[in-house]
Amino acid sequence: SREFKSHDTKVAIEDLTIGENTFSIMAGPCAVENKNSLKEVAKGIKQAGGKILRGGVFKPRTSPYSFQGLGEEGLKILYEAAKENELKIVTEVMDPRQIDLVSKYANILQIGARNMQNYELLKEVGNSNKPVVLKRGMSSTVEEWLMAAEYILVRDNYQVILCERGIRTFETSTRNTLDLAAVSLVKELTHLPVIVDPSHGTGKWKLVSPMSKAALAAGADGVMVEVHQSPEEACSDGLQSLTIENFTKLTQNLQALAPHF
Ligand code: PEP
Ligand code: MN
Repeated sequence: SREFKSHDTKVAIEDLTIGENTFSIMAGPCAVENKNSLKEVAKGIKQAGGKILRGGVFKPRTSPYSFQGLGEEGLKILYEAAKENELKIVTEVMDPRQIDLVSKYANILQIGARNMQNYELLKEVGNSNKPVVLKRGMSSTVEEWLMAAEYILVRDNYQVILCERGIRTFETSTRNTLDLAAVSLVKELTHLPVIVDPSHGTGKWKLVSPMSKAALAAGADGVMVEVHQSPEEACSDGLQSLTIENFTKLTQNLQALAPHF
């Protein structure tokens, strides 16, 4: 809380800073699918001014019959694509047993919405020395979200980035209800950087750009956006993925609005 620490936490990854008046853009496909397409997306992200490449290799899918991600092979692809384009990597860990492996390749560990209250997983990322993106659980209150963050902080890992990704409400016309008020509220309550995922937050690619700008206006420290070189062919979440072209337009818009990019 701000009572404990009044100044903003900044998360540093080598030459890169998240938080502290920087607007960070994390972008990439929902899942790492293959080397060529990831390299194409990574190149587009770099050219558009993105700094951090996202892409799941351990995917939390609703159906066990859906594509589950490429695992370590995906990490190697992610590493190569990021290195070629001088990008940092954020990717999800779903199990404490994946942490050592993922840490060899990634700069930031992501805890997905479904695991926000997986306390054993939180303890283990708390024991690691990697920055953590902690996504808000889809039915979690702000209080529960912040307490989940405490599980990481209490183990002396202060490099926590909160991510609002939409919550479940009665509304079905969007995939989730993006709670931007919570972003401004959490910026008041905590010293941690807060980012917004308008892709999972809305489920609709056309809403990603307006909600990214709204996130910036709400005080967010960045966005995490799904980008695919051919969204209609994506293994997962194509409907909410931007093309490289639309992502480039978005970053131009954000650059015009954000003081530090
Ligand atoms: C993701 O970012 O890949 C993801 C699965 O999101 P969430 O955990 O927010 O559903
Ligand atoms: Mn996704």
